Amino acid sequence: MGLEATRDLAIIGGGPGGLYAAFYAGLRGMSVSLFEALPFLGGQVAALYPEKAIFDIGGFPRVGGAELVARLEEQALQAGPELHVGEEVTGLGRDAAGVCLTTARGEYRARAVLLTTGVGRFTPRPLGVPAVDDWSGSGVGTTVRQAERFRGLPCLVVGGGDSALDWAAELADAGAQVTVAHRRDQFRALEASLSRAEAAGVTLRRSCTLETIHGEGRPESVVLRDLKTGVCEELACAAVVLALGYTADLSALRRWGLPLDGRGLLVTPDTMAVAPGVYAAGDVASYPGKLKLIATAFAEAALAVSACKQALDPDARLQAGHSSEHGSGGPAVATLGGGRREDGGDGA
Ligand SMILES: Cc1cc2nc3c(=O)[nH]c(=O)nc-3n(C[C@H](O)[C@H](O)[C@H](O)COP(=O)(O)OP(=O)(O)OC[C@H]3O[C@@H](n4cnc5c(N)ncnc54)[C@H](O)[C@@H]3O)c2cc1C
Repeated sequence: MGLEATRDLAIIGGGPGGLYAAFYAGLRGMSVSLFEALPFLGGQVAALYPEKAIFDIGGFPRVGGAELVARLEEQALQAGPELHVGEEVTGLGRDAAGVCLTTARGEYRARAVLLTTGVGRFTPRPLGVPAVDDWSGSGVGTTVRQAERFRGLPCLVVGGGDSALDWAAELADAGAQVTVAHRRDQFRALEASLSRAEAAGVTLRRSCTLETIHGEGRPESVVLRDLKTGVCEELACAAVVLALGYTADLSALRRWGLPLDGRGLLVTPDTMAVAPGVYAAGDVASYPGKLKLIATAFAEAALAVSACKQALDPDARLQAGHSSEHGSGGPAVATLGGGRREDGGDGA
């Protein structure tokens, strides 16, 4: 590989796990580069549910997805990571000096790598109807930004799972007139999601498929086909949400020679280590009893970074001091993590 390691830690994946890890590595005095394949940070939260409320983040009784991502970004940036957004890591090599990451823009060296790649490179599942999947204007997508823009307007959500019903309720709560079209007789969504959508006034259309979208640059109407009778019906429509789920691709990890167990990368849970110099945290990390939650990703990121810090610098303490004892902002991030064993005590 030949190049000098320019960073202590390279983080692959800019979702909640990767962003928190970038912050935490800064807290431990490590230099970081962070790679994200999508053109924005925030992982699943930003890509799949930016407008939804999240209720199980400690200290936030309720926080919107986009707000959580904005706060994570602000926290991560305190650590001054070298950001590579819109840059997918396609190759990962290892040698005694560390790791070498390959992207379409070049090669980057680091002393260690942390994989926070979540469910992998994810792509929305298409409907399989070219007139819909190839729609090139705006107003058709897998998420909704600023649901209140659709107040008073007719909107269509396609899908039968929780995500479809949640988007429908979200839009209806914002004042839109929402129809959900699902090709099966039964919705897969939880009873609670169905009840919430119905209470919000959403119209549920079963055994029904979206045939085509009409409009100039934006949807103006859609054609739905009843799969039992074959009858088509045209409805006014200002926005279409395709909530059909997504496919995730973890195959790159196999190509990189890392141990997978079908759910993700096998880690040693106390250090989150996958192999020497390779760590994993968040949804991609697998071990018995794993919970795929944002809270888990945060804790695992702290474990992985701390183990990595000690592996790179055996004189460093495993546990960082408490951030609360060092004020806030950049200087605290730069100084806190440097704590070394010889300073004794267990405080910061
Ligand atoms: C609809 C929905 C609702 C949810 N609600 C909640 C909730 O209420 N509470 C909760 O705790 N959890 C919730 N979750 C789960 C939560 O979003 C995940 O646990 C969390 O996003 C995992 O974070 P992560 O950083 O591990 O991975 P991700 O968020 O998946 O981020 C991984 C990132 O890595 C990037 N990446 C992958 N491969 C590469 C590569 N080779 N190069 C560069 N970048 C790469 C991806 O593009 C992605 O942005 C929900 C999930 C969904 C789908």
